[in-house]
Amino acid sequence: MSVLMKSPRVLALANQKGGVGKTTTAINLGTALAAIGESVLIVDLDPQGNASTGLGIERKARKRSTYDVLVGESTIEEVVVETAVPRLWVAPSTLDLLGVELEIAGTADRAFRLRKAIAACAGSTDPAVPRFTYVLVDCPPSLNLLTINAMTASHSVLVPLQCEFFALEGLSQLLSTVEQVRGSLNPELTIHGIVLTMYDARNNLSGQVVADVRQHMGETVYETIIPRNVRVSEAPSYGKPALLYDLKCTGSQAYLRLASEIIQRERRLRSAAAA
Ligand code: ADP
Ligand code: MG
Repeated sequence: MSVLMKSPRVLALANQKGGVGKTTTAINLGTALAAIGESVLIVDLDPQGNASTGLGIERKARKRSTYDVLVGESTIEEVVVETAVPRLWVAPSTLDLLGVELEIAGTADRAFRLRKAIAACAGSTDPAVPRFTYVLVDCPPSLNLLTINAMTASHSVLVPLQCEFFALEGLSQLLSTVEQVRGSLNPELTIHGIVLTMYDARNNLSGQVVADVRQHMGETVYETIIPRNVRVSEAPSYGKPALLYDLKCTGSQAYLRLASEIIQRERRLRSAAAA
């Protein structure tokens, strides 16, 4: 039976720039995937813990965290907590993560900690352990060992890019990090896609950025563009995904479209891999 059990698809949300929409995308894409029937785990790998907070997990409720997973003191099953969204779980982070790099830097498997933990969780035969179909890893704004752990553990990288003047700046560094990880730690790793975020229709620059990014990156860029939407930015202060806070707002609707686009792209990637 257990050999037939599906392993989750693991996607890393990465961009070394801060404030581009990684965490917002992790929360709302995760919620949208759960809403269409997937079982989703969000792994919060940012010491800031914004994904955990935005999903309503208070700091004092985070007894164990992804820190404990990476240092090998807890399994993922021991760390995950339920959210208010059915089929959506989170492995929360705490500020301890700031020190994890120093603690594990000297070990041979330092880049494989998350990969091993996800594999152990997927292989668990405990009926109480949720059977995740998607794992979304919310990375910190840095190409540090935490992000390397995320990329080593993932099938694909999903890159949020903010519709701003310097959108493409830094992208080549991110893409070359993906290349390096594929060349050494994780030969399976692909770029899933680039999602343009915080698009402002009233601002000409936003339109130019979209055209520019599409010209440079072609089909890697998802059709769906996430608009700048005040409801999306308000939701985390209520500890809720935008989709729960205001399902009808343009931001929530865009994240639902992104989820279905991602599922379609997944099918293509999978059949390409099988061929
Ligand atoms: P990152 O995780 O890359 O640092 P965040 O997801 O935390 O970025 O987003 C940075 C800020 O922008 C947050 O305050 C967030 O609420 C806001 N934000 C993100 N996406 C949107 C959006 N579509 N509309 C409005 N505000 C957004
Ligand atoms: Mg973040």
